[in-house]
Amino acid sequence: MTLQRTLSILKPDVTRRHLTGKVNAKIEESGLRIVAQKRLHLSKVQAQLFYAVHAERAFFNDLCDFMCAGPVVVQVLEGENAVAHYREVMGATNPANAAEGTIRRDFAESIEANSVHGSDSAENAQIEIAFFFSQLEIVG
Ligand code: ADP
Ligand code: MG
Repeated sequence: MTLQRTLSILKPDVTRRHLTGKVNAKIEESGLRIVAQKRLHLSKVQAQLFYAVHAERAFFNDLCDFMCAGPVVVQVLEGENAVAHYREVMGATNPANAAEGTIRRDFAESIEANSVHGSDSAENAQIEIAFFFSQLEIVG
């Protein structure tokens, strides 16, 4: 059994609609544990830095505007195979393609305002966790 950690963000469409608790209930019911958490209002520059891998994509500027349009909740999730497990709990990027019972199917507003972020690999999880949290803030 290998415990893994992944970065989760509850996006501004979730905080705006007061769905933080409902989304986190799904995460915790899936067996993932929230081992670090904070509420932030990202600046445009911080959003651009976080999503730098998407800088060349057509949706980059709109995505960064959306991510700093309201508060987000950033959190570290821990569990067996947490990166892939959380991606399953989130559902497909486009909520129209997301499987029944996933967060994005149940809560997302659009392909952009799709409620949650999750790291896409163990390597990126480490980079993304370090972007937001120090070791002292992660309590396993
Ligand atoms: P995921 O969040 O599922 O890993 P990506 O890493 O491909 O998806 O994209 C990052 C975020 O950019 C998505 O969660 C979504 O908010 C936004 N996004 C992705 N594709 C599009 C698109 N075609 N149009 C608008 N926004 C998009
Ligand atoms: Mg991604």
